[in-house]
Amino acid sequence: MTRKYQRVLLKLSGEALMGDLAYGIDPTIVQAFASEIAQVVQAGVQTAIVVGGGNIFRGMKGAAAGMDRATADYIGMIATVMNAMTLQDALERMDIPTRVQTAIAMQEVAEPYIRRRAIRHLEKSRVVIFGAGSGNPFFTTDTTAALRAAEIDAEVIFKATKVDGVYDSDPRKNPQAKRFQTLTYSHALANNLGVMDSTAIALCKDNDIPIVVFSLSEPGNIYRALMGEAIGTLVGG
Ligand code: UDP
Repeated sequence: MTRKYQRVLLKLSGEALMGDLAYGIDPTIVQAFASEIAQVVQAGVQTAIVVGGGNIFRGMKGAAAGMDRATADYIGMIATVMNAMTLQDALERMDIPTRVQTAIAMQEVAEPYIRRRAIRHLEKSRVVIFGAGSGNPFFTTDTTAALRAAEIDAEVIFKATKVDGVYDSDPRKNPQAKRFQTLTYSHALANNLGVMDSTAIALCKDNDIPIVVFSLSEPGNIYRALMGEAIGTLVGG
C-alpha cells in the first residue's frame, strides 16, 4: 500500500491500551498497536501520537469523588505519561526510534515538549509521543490531539475508538443507527455526536484539520487508516 499522508497524528485513548482488562495496560495490545504503527512509519508516514490516560486515572472521576478538580486533572496528565512510555518501549523494541515529549517537565524520563524539536524528530522519521496532555487542567487529551496536530502541521487526526465511526445515535442501543461516512464539524458540534469533545472539534474546525474516527477492534485498522484507506467516518469542513 502506498501512503496517502506525509504527517499524521494518532489519538489513542488510555482505554484502548487496557484491552479487556479492568484497569491498566495490556502489554499484548500495546505490542499489537506498536507493530501496526511500525509498519506505517516504515512506509514513510511521519507519525505523532497523543495518548490518553483513562485506563489509569480520569480527572472528572477524581473530582466526582470530592478531589480538587485541577489536582485530579494533573494526576490524569501524569497517568498519560505512563502510557506514553509503555508505547515508546514497545515501538523501540521493534527498532522504531521514538521520543516522548511531555507537557509537564519530567526530564529524567522524557523530553519536554518543544514544538520545533518535535517537528525535527518527525522529519527524521522518529515517532513522537506527546504525554501529559496539554499541561493544563480542565482539558482533555482529545483537545491536546487537536492542539498538537495544529502545531506540528499534521494533515489529519486519527481518533481510534471502540466503534467503527460516528453514528446518528448509539449503535449499541439502537439497531437502526446509521453510520456517517462523512460529517461536517458543525453537524458533529450541533448534534453532540461524540466524535471528540466540543473544544477539540472547534479547534479542528478553526484550523481545518480533518478527523478520521475509526475502530480499533479490527486488527490492522491502525495501519489501514493511517495509510489513507477510507475507513470509519471522516469529519471535516
Ligand atoms: N488531562 C488534563 N489536561 C489535558 C489532558 C488530560 O487535565 O490537557 C487529564 C484529565 O483529568 C483527563 C486525564 O488527564 O481525564 C486523562 O486524559 P483523557 O481522559 O483525555 O484520556 P482518554 O479518555 O483519552 O483515555
